[in-house]
Amino acid sequence: MTPIDLLLTDARLPDGRLTTIAVAGGRIVALDAPAEAVARERIHLGGDLVLPALIDGHMHLDKTLVGLPWIGHAAEPFRMSRIETDKRILPGLPLSTEQRAANLARLCVAQGTGHIRTHVDIDNEGRLAKLEGVCAARERLAGAVSMQIVAFPQSGVMRCPGVLDLLDAAMREGADLVGGIDPLEIDRDPKGQLDGIFAIADRHGRGLDIHLHEPGEMGLFNVQEICSRTRALGLQGKVTISHGFCLGGVAESKQQAAAELMGECGVALVTHGAASAPLPPIALLRRHGVTVFAGNDDVRDTWSPYGNADMLERISYIGWRADLRHDPMLHDILELATGAGAKALGLERYGLAVGNAADLVTLRAEGVPEAVGAHAPRRLVLHAGRVVARDGAYCGP
Ligand SMILES: [Zn+2]
Repeated sequence: MTPIDLLLTDARLPDGRLTTIAVAGGRIVALDAPAEAVARERIHLGGDLVLPALIDGHMHLDKTLVGLPWIGHAAEPFRMSRIETDKRILPGLPLSTEQRAANLARLCVAQGTGHIRTHVDIDNEGRLAKLEGVCAARERLAGAVSMQIVAFPQSGVMRCPGVLDLLDAAMREGADLVGGIDPLEIDRDPKGQLDGIFAIADRHGRGLDIHLHEPGEMGLFNVQEICSRTRALGLQGKVTISHGFCLGGVAESKQQAAAELMGECGVALVTHGAASAPLPPIALLRRHGVTVFAGNDDVRDTWSPYGNADMLERISYIGWRADLRHDPMLHDILELATGAGAKALGLERYGLAVGNAADLVTLRAEGVPEAVGAHAPRRLVLHAGRVVARDGAYCGP
């Protein structure tokens, strides 16, 4: 057997078993190691629950105000006002994009998150500057968290000539996925925007993650347009719709049809359970094979003063809104921040199994239902077998 770097003794697995987890070379090498095995280091967990590191599938690290003195919310309650507020406030802040993004990412890690998908604004004013900042933060924190970056045309695509070229450049400069936004409401040109962004994804062999806030029939139209392009380009499993509020706001027969189509086309949905919009029908979508995962979206930023980057709190809120109460349902809800997120992000070697990365979080909870229901305190967070947060405080590289 390879020499063991770390033994986690008296660890409780999600199925309730108490066991000893062995880690070597950043991987899980045993889930039932003898407690007396020889190891470089051992940590006694005292029966704490162990979960795979949480996944935050929708973030905006470039917009956060974490680390700054409190700045009151300044935008009017409209999307365009929030977009303009970003452009007014962010460039004058005393902390750089890199510093703010790193501050928020460290907060994520402290809460047990090991993998983040973040959108980063690409527009004619900032061009690729925010991408450079977030890429620098990603590099700085690579020992504690992995990041996927979506090149996000926050201000629109067709209404901002030049942005398609910038998105294309972003894919060469470190972005992992192509983003999009409300092709009808923001751009009034769904064909133009969707053809444009899918062409970029196709050219670079990458996936897409498209913000869709559009309500009702307008949103459904774009769900169908996104699905048909996904199928035509063979991008099944590589496309996500962010929010998809429309899915929660139409008749049940239309929800069914949309869920079926998304399932067939391998288009995933990420939700943060926005209070201001209908909740997508999570159980129905899952029954049709749609990967539904979760993200925090805005955390104390120019769009929202709320949030603390805690994915367990986020999914407990989603479960509360969806009125899911029984233990098996709470296990299902955890999937939104673990297995389903890993599938959508295409993470390899994720999860509590031998051979997988030792990206773990330990919690003071009797089991998964309590961890979700009470979003129990995080004790230890490990990334590739190294402790990167302890008792809610970041201590990684
Ligand atoms: Zn967003």
